[in-house]
Amino acid sequence: MLVDTHCHLDDGRYFEDLDEVIARSAQHGVDRFIIPGAGPKDLGRAIEICEKYENAYFAVGVHPYHASEFDEKAFEFVSHPKCVAIGECGLDYFRLPEDEEGKEAEKKLQKEIFAVQIEIAKKAQKPLIVHIRDASEDSKKMLIDMDSGKVGGVLHCYNADQNLLELAKYGFYFGVGGVLTFSNARKLVEVLPQIPLDKLLFETDAPYLTPMPHRGKRNEPAYMPLVVKKASELLGINEEKLCKMSTDNAKRLFNY
Ligand SMILES: [Zn+2]
Ligand SMILES: [Zn+2]
Repeated sequence: MLVDTHCHLDDGRYFEDLDEVIARSAQHGVDRFIIPGAGPKDLGRAIEICEKYENAYFAVGVHPYHASEFDEKAFEFVSHPKCVAIGECGLDYFRLPEDEEGKEAEKKLQKEIFAVQIEIAKKAQKPLIVHIRDASEDSKKMLIDMDSGKVGGVLHCYNADQNLLELAKYGFYFGVGGVLTFSNARKLVEVLPQIPLDKLLFETDAPYLTPMPHRGKRNEPAYMPLVVKKASELLGINEEKLCKMSTDNAKRLFNY
């Protein structure tokens, strides 16, 4: 059985048919879900889902795009029995303001909010779900400087930057999803074998990044085996073995 280590089941796109989405996942061998925090406004929905479905867990966190909505109050739910991590948090420089001043201010804000969440994770002794886009160097530096190896975590939707592989020795895992099946995934295909096998996780990032051949449609955990199949072909490791390995990895990291 598989665990989808990153799916936004609290997203509005599942309001209508979450029961069916979860049932379809089970049919495809995906029987555990981790719902990362993105905007503080969605936290209530994530908790509701985790209280209804025994096999769903959540993380509390503020995505870099929502940095200005950071609200410390949300983090009181870190002690909830179904909360397994802090995140997703991190740095995302993909769409910074054009002007120099605005750019620096946005980077500064993102770093501040990321730092606060690293501290919370260390205090709570929970792993981090880290989101990095176009900000590998700054993110890596912060994770190392702030001693986040004490709790470790996952670089979700791992961007295939080889420099980040060094974080494996600080207790970080690498989340691989639908991008692996895209025809332009050359970089990730190349780097995949360099990820230590005991640090490899699978995720969908649903409703985003739908794997082939469903690209363009809403993503859901039931599609995750397509990613595992692709990884098994690329690594030359039997699919069943790979499932077991990644599921053991997830259990070790998130301690559910
Ligand atoms: Zn993300
Ligand atoms: Zn996400």
